[in-house]
Amino acid sequence: MSAVIVVHGGAWAIPDDLAQASVAGVKAAARRGFLAMKTGASALEAVELAVRTMEDDPVFDAGHGAVLNADGEVELDAIIMDGRTLAAGAVSCVRNIPNPVSLARAVMEKTDHVMLTDRGANRFAQSIGIQEVSPESLVTEQERREWEKNRKYSSGVKDLFNSQWGHDTVGAVALDCSGNVACATSTGGIRNKMVGRVGDSPVIGSGGYADNLSGAASCTGHGESILRVTLARLILFHMEQGKGTAEAVNVSLTYMGERVRGGGGAIAVSRTGDWAARFTTERMAWAALEEERLTYGLNPGEAFKEPVNMLN
Ligand code: ASP
Repeated sequence: MSAVIVVHGGAWAIPDDLAQASVAGVKAAARRGFLAMKTGASALEAVELAVRTMEDDPVFDAGHGAVLNADGEVELDAIIMDGRTLAAGAVSCVRNIPNPVSLARAVMEKTDHVMLTDRGANRFAQSIGIQEVSPESLVTEQERREWEKNRKYSSGVKDLFNSQWGHDTVGAVALDCSGNVACATSTGGIRNKMVGRVGDSPVIGSGGYADNLSGAASCTGHGESILRVTLARLILFHMEQGKGTAEAVNVSLTYMGERVRGGGGAIAVSRTGDWAARFTTERMAWAALEEERLTYGLNPGEAFKEPVNMLN
C-alpha cells in the first residue's frame, strides 16, 4: 500500500493577497505529514503533524491566527480520528492552547471520552503538561483589524460566508503504508461567532470522520450547514455505496447546497488511496502528496502537479 496525504486550508473566498501564503502553507503541511509517513509514522501521526504545521502558520484560522468571536476572543475547536479503531478525540472552545489537535489526540488516547470543552479541556491539558500560552499571543494584528472592520456584521453569517469573511479552517486526511486511514480538523471557527458557539469541526461525522473500511474525510465551510448534513459521514456513506472519492465528495457538497443552502469543501481519501479535494466556495487551498508527486490547487478545477524530491 503506498501512502497518501491530502490537506486543506479552508474553503472561502481567500483574498489574492493571502493566496500565495495559503498555497505555500498547505504544501508545507502535506510535505511534513508525508515525510513522516515515509519514515514510519502512521496516518494518525501524519495528520496530526500536518494540522499542527498549519495551526502554527498565522495565515490559517487555526491555532495562531484564528479568527475572533463576538467578544474579540479566540475560541478553538479540533478533532482527530483513527480509522483503525474508530477512536476519536476532540476539544472545543479552548482559548490558550496553540495546538488543539494535539490536545484532541490526548483526549482520544488518555481519557474515556471523545470531546472535552472549555475549562475541562484546559484542566486536562494542565494535568498532562500540554503547552498553554496567553490567549492574546494567538491573535494576529491582521485578525484584530479584520475583526474591528467586520464588527458591524452581527447576523447573516451564511450569506456573507463566501464573500466577506475569512475562515481558513485546516484539515488533513491520510492513508499509511499499513492501510490505516486518519483525519484531523482544526479551526477558530467563524469570525464574530457567538461566545460559546461550536461549529462542525470538532463534531465527529461532521468536521471529520475516518474508518479503515471506507476512508477518511475532513470538511470546511459553513459549520451550521455541515452539522445539519453530517458532511464527513455523508461522504463516506457515498463511498461505501460504491462511488469514487471525487464523486462522493461532489454529491455530498451538492446535497448540502441544495438541502440547506450551505457552501463548503472537503478532502477525502479512500482505503485504496483514491483521493479528492473539492469545494463549492470561491476558493479552497489544498495539497495532496503521494508517491512523491505533489498536486495542489486554489481555484475551482485547478490541479497543478509537481514532481517532488523528498530528500530535498
Ligand atoms: N467549518 C468551520 C466552522 O464553521 C469554519 C470553516 O471551515 O471555515 O467553524
